[in-house]
Amino acid sequence: MDMIGVYLKEAFLKEGCPVCRMLREFEGKTLATILYEHSNDPQVITDFKKSLGLCPYHAWKLFETSASNSLYDPLGVAVIYERMLAHYLESGENVKEEECPICTLVEEKERIVVDSIVKRIDEILEYYRDSPAILCRRHYRMIVEGLATKAPEKGEELKNIHKKKLKNIHELLKGFIEKSSYMYEEGPSEEEARAIRSSILILKGEPLAINQKGFVEKSSKKRGRVIFGRKN
Ligand SMILES: [Zn+2]
Ligand SMILES: [Zn+2]
Repeated sequence: MDMIGVYLKEAFLKEGCPVCRMLREFEGKTLATILYEHSNDPQVITDFKKSLGLCPYHAWKLFETSASNSLYDPLGVAVIYERMLAHYLESGENVKEEECPICTLVEEKERIVVDSIVKRIDEILEYYRDSPAILCRRHYRMIVEGLATKAPEKGEELKNIHKKKLKNIHELLKGFIEKSSYMYEEGPSEEEARAIRSSILILKGEPLAINQKGFVEKSSKKRGRVIFGRKN
């Protein structure tokens, strides 16, 4: 098995969405590399300038990463954002803010990971079947789309396995609600409690910038939206 196969296997044997997990780890490594080696790199500064210091999600993630580990010198973030502030002062309010380079990198990585899963679907299905992993909606759809032309029968197999997992989480969540009632002395199990997080993960994916885009169907963009029961 090649390296990507090893990473995929590991991700598919753990709890949560394997693709989100791999992207989160990739994003973490990318931010760490910037802080560790490249905060003074002119190319990095140029790339950052185009987006005026990344998207809000990655700018704060970079800041949090630097603050959370004593290995990183806070000087790294200071150097980068001193350059960004200088650029803003020079350019004024017409300063351009293009696509965040880290979002672009993560999107490329996502494509590579999904393609690799499609290519290795035989092995992947074996891991996925009995593991606590569950694909989020976005990544499930991307994989199913990839399989539609390359291996439709495997796509059907994935659909069946996935549906079983969704039903299982649904049952666990219903169990959690039911056993939270005072009539149950024992209360919900740990597994049932974990189903709360899993249900959000299934629908929305991990809290990553890439998942903010979600899957909004065009037909759902109606006028006079109702938010929390109130028209706005
Ligand atoms: Zn995902
Ligand atoms: Zn970004």
